[in-house]
Amino acid sequence: MKGKRVIFMGPPGGGKGTQAQRLEDKYGLKQLSTGDMLRAAVAAGTELGNKAKAIIDSGALVSDDIMVGMISERIDQPDCEPGIILDGFPRTVPQAEALDVMLSEKGMKIDAVIELRVEDSILYDRIRKRASEAGEGNIRADDNEETLRKRLEVYHAQTAPILPYYGQKGLLHVVDGTLPMDAVTRELEGILGE
Ligand code: AMP
Repeated sequence: MKGKRVIFMGPPGGGKGTQAQRLEDKYGLKQLSTGDMLRAAVAAGTELGNKAKAIIDSGALVSDDIMVGMISERIDQPDCEPGIILDGFPRTVPQAEALDVMLSEKGMKIDAVIELRVEDSILYDRIRKRASEAGEGNIRADDNEETLRKRLEVYHAQTAPILPYYGQKGLLHVVDGTLPMDAVTRELEGILGE
């Protein structure tokens, strides 16, 4: 597994973060969530964070240039050497193309792309549950039905077109994200091997 670089794709609320976390623990891969990085920048009140906040809250996407630069710097950190799971990046075809160029310049490549497929109606159920479980004050500003509608629109229009891009390269694996969490993890382990 050493040096594996895996991309998790799938709609918002589809379980990417949870599953990436599990594989991080099992395989020693570093989970890189661009959403978490942006939220940390917002919390820290950096210039980028201040600019990104309104975009994130609306469910739209932060610009490709910013995201590509952010992930490129992060991949260079020593903790990414054992391998990475990209969670929430790439989000557009230009990001996917830029990632290929960036990785080849670093002497790296993508080993697998996994789509956690979940239909929209199930995501609405999940987001309602997530909102009711998050304590008062812990609810993400982008965790509501109206924003989910916008985020799904963005996902279908801008992110899902990446899937055939990786399909053509023979890298794409589709997993049924509606299975129970442990079953999804087993499927992922089957794909990634030992
Ligand atoms: P996530 O936690 O991955 O759902 O991301 C939350 C929000 O951060 C998204 O709705 C976008 O506004 C922004 N974001 C995260 N990753 C990216 C990316 N790769 N490109 C553009 N915007 C992103």
